[in-house]
Amino acid sequence: MQEREQKRAALDPAQQEQATGDMDPASFRLYAHQVVDWVADYLEHVGDYPVLARTQPGDIRRALPAQPPQQPESMQAILADFERVLLPGITHWNAPGFMGFFGITGSGPGILGELLTAALNVNAMLWRTSPAATELEQVALDWLRQMLGLPEPLFGVINDTASAGTLYALAAAREALSDLQIRQRGMSGRPEVPRLRYYASQEAHSAVDKAGIVLGVGLEGLRKIPVDDEYRLDVAALERAIKEDLAAGWRPFAVVATVGTTSTTSVDPVPAIADLCERYGLWLHIDASYAGSAALLPEYRHILAGCERADSFIVNPHKWLFTPLDCSVFFTRKPEIVKATFSLVLEILRTDEEAPNLMDYGISLGRRFRALKLWMIMRYFGQEGLQARLREHIRLGQLLAQWIDGSPDFERLAPAPFSTVCFRAHPRGLDDEEQLTALNERLLNRINGAGHYFLSHTRLRGRYSLRAAIGNLRTSEETVRGLWQELREGLEAELARRS
Ligand SMILES: *Cc1c(COP(=O)(O)O)cnc(C)c1O
Repeated sequence: MQEREQKRAALDPAQQEQATGDMDPASFRLYAHQVVDWVADYLEHVGDYPVLARTQPGDIRRALPAQPPQQPESMQAILADFERVLLPGITHWNAPGFMGFFGITGSGPGILGELLTAALNVNAMLWRTSPAATELEQVALDWLRQMLGLPEPLFGVINDTASAGTLYALAAAREALSDLQIRQRGMSGRPEVPRLRYYASQEAHSAVDKAGIVLGVGLEGLRKIPVDDEYRLDVAALERAIKEDLAAGWRPFAVVATVGTTSTTSVDPVPAIADLCERYGLWLHIDASYAGSAALLPEYRHILAGCERADSFIVNPHKWLFTPLDCSVFFTRKPEIVKATFSLVLEILRTDEEAPNLMDYGISLGRRFRALKLWMIMRYFGQEGLQARLREHIRLGQLLAQWIDGSPDFERLAPAPFSTVCFRAHPRGLDDEEQLTALNERLLNRINGAGHYFLSHTRLRGRYSLRAAIGNLRTSEETVRGLWQELREGLEAELARRS
């Protein structure tokens, strides 16, 4: 009993028996300072951790109690377990050597924005449930529109992911088939509804397939169009597919073009695709989740040629604009159709203001105040600062590509239009594809196991490819030089092992 009382005495007022309120201000201030100090130290030394977590499946779970605590536990104990138990199971996406999938950054101003968002805890479902959240979202996204050089009018909302935005775009495209009244009447059991078809290249993101699953269009409703030798959608093949489908009784309704595909960051020929969409009356959606940010650079603005004609467009500030997860921007030239797709006004939510209610533009009612962090990032770095960072990442990507091109033992497997490079080791005299795959898999495991870098892989025309995607603000030329050295030394070690 006495022990229990002693334990209680070490706890905060809010943790005492009978207490019913939140953490008191003095305790909050104390822990908040500790946590912020921890974060500052973490960000300073994030490069010292193994980038890829070294735990095995189940390790972390086993280290945690299976039952929830009955009694309050001290914040010191909780924070200590965060470091002792959880941190070893963290893969450090904020590390300079993180180049897997896409390099991202939870930047300082963005982290501070998230802290304020959590403190305000507003739900921006309606304009009146926090006018500043809705209006800042509109202002920040109009700034972003200007930075990308996209013409007005363009309506923007922030979603958690590009996957959600892709679903919303295709749902709106389906709604645009107004004669079918699918929103009201559904699709099943209606012999008068033709089978619907939409199109994307073989290199499009799986979010495009998932939208078909959710919308009842089915995976067969997505026709994958072949790509050219630079992994860009083949427009002639797209037109042939549309004609063939029309002749066979399908109803084409949308095309998804990608600006910066997930494997090779290729840019589909959007102007020619836009022509086809106009000719055949199809919704054009652009997935520029990663590469869209590059259009902040005047010298890269051409990558968005034709995008001004799109019905909807996605770019992810949480990918290559230094914004902490999650923040995916959905732009549309047809907000009235997106709203007609999703709006359902229940009595409890009915309001009479003229302002938009952002809950009307997707399936989630509740909305986090995500615009705050994006706005803080834009102001903190400024357009020039953001441009300098994007330009540097592209320079570093091109440098790595040059080193690979100049080496007799490595080869590039795709063009590298931005900061992502697809390549493999291909030493002289070793041309057997299976052996090359095995060698590159071992090289990847070696690099990722060493802890300084994390790379991922892809397959390009059947060939196993390593992939380095530069996008973290802490990645420097020294980081990339170090990677190149580890790759060359790793290859030597693998070849020595084989012989
Ligand atoms: C990363 C990526 C996505 C998925 O983004 P989420 O926001 O994680 O859903 C979709 N498309 C492309 C081209 C991407 O690079």
